[in-house]
Amino acid sequence: MTHAGAYIHIPFCRSRCSYCDFATGIYQGELASAYVRAVVAEIGSSKNAGAHLDTVYFGGGTPSLLTPAQLDQILSTLHRQFNIDRDSEITVEMNPGTVNRDQLRAFRDLGVNRASFGAQTFDDAELAKLGRSHSSADTLKTFHELRAAGFNNVSFDLIAGLPGQTLAGWQRNIEQSLALEPEHLSFYLLEVHSGTPLADHIRRGLQPVPDEDLAAVMYEWMIERAAAAGYEHYEISNLAKPGFESRHNTKYWTGAPYFGFGCSAHSFDGVARRWSNQRDVQRYVENVEQGVSPVVEEQELTAADLRAEALFLGMRMMRGVDVREYNELFGVDLRAEHQDDLDRFREAGLVEFDGDLIRLTRNGALMSNEVFAAFV
Ligand code: SF4
Repeated sequence: MTHAGAYIHIPFCRSRCSYCDFATGIYQGELASAYVRAVVAEIGSSKNAGAHLDTVYFGGGTPSLLTPAQLDQILSTLHRQFNIDRDSEITVEMNPGTVNRDQLRAFRDLGVNRASFGAQTFDDAELAKLGRSHSSADTLKTFHELRAAGFNNVSFDLIAGLPGQTLAGWQRNIEQSLALEPEHLSFYLLEVHSGTPLADHIRRGLQPVPDEDLAAVMYEWMIERAAAAGYEHYEISNLAKPGFESRHNTKYWTGAPYFGFGCSAHSFDGVARRWSNQRDVQRYVENVEQGVSPVVEEQELTAADLRAEALFLGMRMMRGVDVREYNELFGVDLRAEHQDDLDRFREAGLVEFDGDLIRLTRNGALMSNEVFAAFV
């Protein structure tokens, strides 16, 4: 069976960004200690103990707010409970300005070999509008410290389509990112979630409504420019230098198993069962302390669910879905089953066929939600 990945959610941040709707809150020392104890206990009682893992991903939130000792407690417990490959990819999401060189060296010594780095934009005015707690100078400083600490696999997160952002501003952003030569780039088109301060600012006219058409132009421009700089566009929102694709995130798109620990973490057994944990951090800690399972949702996927997921998750990968493999797995001729939709999308230039592969075009990647809706 394919090796699994472990995801550990760390729900603490230094401040709250105006657009964020993740399960995360402001860092408090005591709560963080109790939380790490709870995560260790949850991993220690995992029903999947003994499974082979080849990726571990600390996401959040801002996992780099953990001390090396706390990270060590979690990693040691994972090592005791699971068979973790020696050459596993071990990622920690980090925000600029939240770590110093000693901490980064300590993370490296614990086996962390990949940093996913929340740069977002290099424009200080945009960072301030987003409520980010860092400046572009912090980004540069932390990036150089990452390199000095021996990190040779660094991913940048960037957000396009910010209110008031111009194409020229975005282009400067990308040029500054590329000049640093990270191994991987993840980029997101800004989504305005109701209930966030950003949604409120826009509603009250304090910030302009993001321009979706302009965001699409930014997306295209970035892919072209990054491709010219040697990055491969391997997933809708991700580009990598050859050999530096995110092994952990690829598990989500290819139906591999992954086990999530911590509040709001999701899991999949790689066959048909999904489950997810309590979203609220306090309740999660209380559950675990009282010996109550933090799992609040469990779902057994039907054969139809699995087929649909294999299609729309697989099509997130720019390589596309192999109709022959799909047929072997599910006994279904994809082209026949979705003929009308596929013909419509092909005529609209959203989908293309290449031998046995069906894939999104670049325009299709921009409108992927519409394409996927037809397959669900
Ligand atoms: S750093 Fe990330 S998780 Fe934390 S508040 Fe900002 S967007 Fe949300």
